[in-house]
Amino acid sequence: MSVAATEPWEKISDALRSGIDPESYDTWIQPLEMAEFREGVLTLRAPNGFSRNWVLSNYREKIEEAAQAVFLRDVTLRFEVAPGHMEDLGPVEWSHLHAKLYDGAAPAAGSGGPVTVGGFTLESIPFNSHLNFDNFVVGESNRFAHAAAQKVADPESRAYNPLFLYGGVGLGKTHLLHAIGRQMMSYGPHIQVLYVSSETFMNAFIECIQSKDVTHFRNCFRSVDLLLIDDVQFFAGAERTQTEFFHTFNSLYAAGKKIVISSDQPPKELHELEERLRSRFEQGLIVDIQPPDLETRVAILRRKAAELRLELTSEVEIYIAERIKTNIRKLEGALTKLSAHMSVSREPVGVSTARGLLGAFLSGQEPVKISVEKVQTAVCKYFDLNLQDLTGDDRSRKFSYPRQIACYLAREMTDFSYPEIARKFGGRDHTSILHAHRKIQRDLAQDMGKQNLITYLTRMIKDETTGAAPRN
Ligand code: ADP
Ligand code: MG
Repeated sequence: MSVAATEPWEKISDALRSGIDPESYDTWIQPLEMAEFREGVLTLRAPNGFSRNWVLSNYREKIEEAAQAVFLRDVTLRFEVAPGHMEDLGPVEWSHLHAKLYDGAAPAAGSGGPVTVGGFTLESIPFNSHLNFDNFVVGESNRFAHAAAQKVADPESRAYNPLFLYGGVGLGKTHLLHAIGRQMMSYGPHIQVLYVSSETFMNAFIECIQSKDVTHFRNCFRSVDLLLIDDVQFFAGAERTQTEFFHTFNSLYAAGKKIVISSDQPPKELHELEERLRSRFEQGLIVDIQPPDLETRVAILRRKAAELRLELTSEVEIYIAERIKTNIRKLEGALTKLSAHMSVSREPVGVSTARGLLGAFLSGQEPVKISVEKVQTAVCKYFDLNLQDLTGDDRSRKFSYPRQIACYLAREMTDFSYPEIARKFGGRDHTSILHAHRKIQRDLAQDMGKQNLITYLTRMIKDETTGAAPRN
């Protein structure tokens, strides 16, 4: 069935109106037009690539849900961009964009201002981000990191450039990076801030190389006042990206711009990083964030509980804080579970209820790390291939399709970077892993069969890793 009419879109957009604040609705949803609906695919026309990316990353689910209610079937969303659009924003638009966002007295929910580079959406700090200095709880473990971050966020200060923050998972690195960015942006629309994960930097760079648009990439990254780059450990093994980042770094540094870097290790432990980059990182201030002590964990719990409007007894606070020692994200997870329970029962939670609700969650080991080998074994088993074929060069579909699936799962299910995965797939170039990943990701948006396959394999790999009994 093909539908090309405005009527269904009117119904869908009406339904969306109730769930999106009016300003965001007018900015993002109102300008969209329906191009067609065919075989479960709803194609909307966006005024430009910027708008398309923003809508996709913020409203995709809402739109699909509303469309499902209208068409009474599963709907996948697609976009086309109106002809004559400005796909990418050059350096000039940067400041314009920032000014626009900053001046908007009541920024739209979730706004922050993405900029598109190489098909990737780069965001400055989202305005509604809850990650700021006010809600960062300071204890012995992070006092120095917090103080250094505040200093860097002071536009008058030139100290600590670059600031290199490192520490384990869930200890607040990203939180501090956002807090610095937010604070800097609050000093005025002329200050351009860019927050980017090292992976996004790399992926955008690769895309720009391929589309011969490296100048645009450089303009974007080299025109900011503050570059916040998260999780640089993922640069491991990506040599060209490191070289590019080295030049980005030098260019910003020479112009007196600020750079803040985070990583799970100190520079000297990042063995696969080029020496010259490591020594750049070492020329500023290196600060670690340690796991919080008991008092700090309780203070964090209290603060987060208050945000969730949860009232906890101090026994319950201590019960939780004694059991979650190294990952603040997990503390939040415990609170979310309690909050879900309390919203239903509306009764205060005592230690025994907390134990009942959180027992399994708290006693659970840190999540089991899944290896690339496990993924490969599972995919080989499913497709009845041997490992040489899976990781080899034969491009016939019999091998290339399972290979793409395995690359996708390896990236999704393990902590390894593209270059590390590439090495485990016969030492191929890491861009081929990136492409396989993106291809499967695209297919998944349209293909239920593939979604089921991925769900099935994911379950199989998890079960095999945790030693769970096989399921049928
Ligand atoms: P990392 O980037 O180091 O893995 P995050 O910055 O993502 O960790 O922090 C994980 C979660 O814990 C976030 O929701 C963050 O807000 C919260 N968090 C971490 N440290 C603190 C802190 N000191 N005070 C309040 N919340 C914190
Ligand atoms: Mg982080």
